[in-house]
Amino acid sequence: MVVESILMKESEKKIFERLENLYCEMDSAWEKIASLYGFICNGCDENCCESEFYHHTLIEKKYLLKGFNQLPTPQIILATKRAKKVCTKRDIAAKKQESIRIMCPLNQDGKCILYKYRPMICRLHGIPHELVKPASYSSNSNTKPLSDINPILISDANPVLSSGCNAGSELFSAKGYIKFDRTPFYSEMAAIEKEYLTTVVGKNVRNKQTIAQMLTKISF
Ligand code: SF4
Repeated sequence: MVVESILMKESEKKIFERLENLYCEMDSAWEKIASLYGFICNGCDENCCESEFYHHTLIEKKYLLKGFNQLPTPQIILATKRAKKVCTKRDIAAKKQESIRIMCPLNQDGKCILYKYRPMICRLHGIPHELVKPASYSSNSNTKPLSDINPILISDANPVLSSGCNAGSELFSAKGYIKFDRTPFYSEMAAIEKEYLTTVVGKNVRNKQTIAQMLTKISF
């Protein structure tokens, strides 16, 4: 039992390293393209941390919580309180069928307190991009979990182009679209999730949570 648990920890550590490498690649690709536009993400009225995104991988949740548990206790308590408030406000809005913008509980005084551990969507947001999605997967649906996506299927479909954020719109239209393909990042993330579910979790678990939900429903 002890040996099994040590092996599990080792597997998890290796998968975290793979995830960190992917995050590094995303960050440098994003920086490179943003600099070609002359775009700097430096706080704006339309703060993307006020947009609620669903995150679909368990490995990213686990990694985020790893960082969260290393925060000083007072910061953990405050962020958990903020997360509970966000969930309550969101539930009220959902009942009224209203859409709301609400600040992520990890944003404190305009800064992400888990910047190093932030998930993929937070890293890729902002600049115009393309993504090839298989028809069976939609980031807003409960269909296939990321780990079920076949990278070969991804490469056979047509890319979907998306515009960047409003803060950079003038810069983006002045330069025209500079290719930023998210597909290889999604593909590698799907492979990492699959490895994590197979070698560490031992079953196929679907995840679809906002950051606030992750912080209030900590176990999985
Ligand atoms: S995790 Fe950090 S970067 Fe992402 S939305 Fe929350 S505060 Fe913003």
